[in-house]
Amino acid sequence: MDIKKVAVIGAGTMGSGIAQVFASKNYSVVLMDTEQGFIDRGLKNINNSLDRLIKKNTITRDQYNSILKNISTLTDLDSIPGDIDLVIEAVVENKSVKMSIYNKLHSLLPEKTIFTSNTSSISITELGSGTRPDRFIGMHFMNPVPLMQLVEIIRGYATSDSTFSTIKQLSIELGKTPVEVFDYPGFVANRILMPMINEAIYSLFEGVASAEDIDTVMKLGMNHPMGPLTLADFIGLDVCLAIMEVLYTGFNDSKYRPCPLLKKMVAAGKLGRKSKEGFFKYN
Ligand code: NAD
Repeated sequence: MDIKKVAVIGAGTMGSGIAQVFASKNYSVVLMDTEQGFIDRGLKNINNSLDRLIKKNTITRDQYNSILKNISTLTDLDSIPGDIDLVIEAVVENKSVKMSIYNKLHSLLPEKTIFTSNTSSISITELGSGTRPDRFIGMHFMNPVPLMQLVEIIRGYATSDSTFSTIKQLSIELGKTPVEVFDYPGFVANRILMPMINEAIYSLFEGVASAEDIDTVMKLGMNHPMGPLTLADFIGLDVCLAIMEVLYTGFNDSKYRPCPLLKKMVAAGKLGRKSKEGFFKYN
């Protein structure tokens, strides 16, 4: 299937990065969020990211302008154009919020439109079950989307081979490396990454070392480019908690129990970089 026009639902950390990547490859992008303020924040992320690429001489000012021209915005799902070929949903990690969006879009968009979710952990089979399971697939980009090479492509139980091959080919055209993954809690990336982050938070909670020292151990000792607590702040502590809860309930295994400190910080609104404070403080 030929993909030309995409709708990105959710203009947060991931949605804005995904919109930028598609627009940079000359796809026509409709970026949707519930309020103009969220759209403006997403567009600001894109502007900042493109500014950095200009400074590095990776793109020209003309390219900058044409990338931005490829993006239009929307705050009301009902006004989505009817000729969207692909939906990429990147809203909060909450099953019922995501499924209500697919239900709405299912009635507004043609049958051929492929629905994808950027979920970090929620079952693709479940997310796709109420609408178009054969044309539903996980397209899990990594953060920051313009820089990170990997896309996990997650097949739900009913995802068709043609949906899979369209999304695999598209990922290659976007300059990414797709990896095929089957539907299981946390897929591969977060099944491995999140328990490590959660264990780093337990180490802090139990007073084993300070936040700075935990990160130093993992950076200098394991050659990680970023310590796990800095990475958690970067991902968003609310996102980390939501993923741990999916792993905990999905595997029904106490080894995935989210650290109480993580729960407490999310309840206190300390979400990491996006709230200017998590394990560390940000200006
Ligand atoms: P975020 O909180 O930065 O952004 C979510 C956006 O969704 C917000 O702008 C919010 O206003 C919007 N939104 C909420 N309900 C909506 C609705 N009904 N309609 C339209 N927009 C709505 O979150 P994020 O970090 O961008 O995460 C988005 C998704 O991507 C989640 O499923 C998350 O698990 C996944 N993900 C996150 C990361 C990461 O590092 N943050 C990495 C990979 C995947």
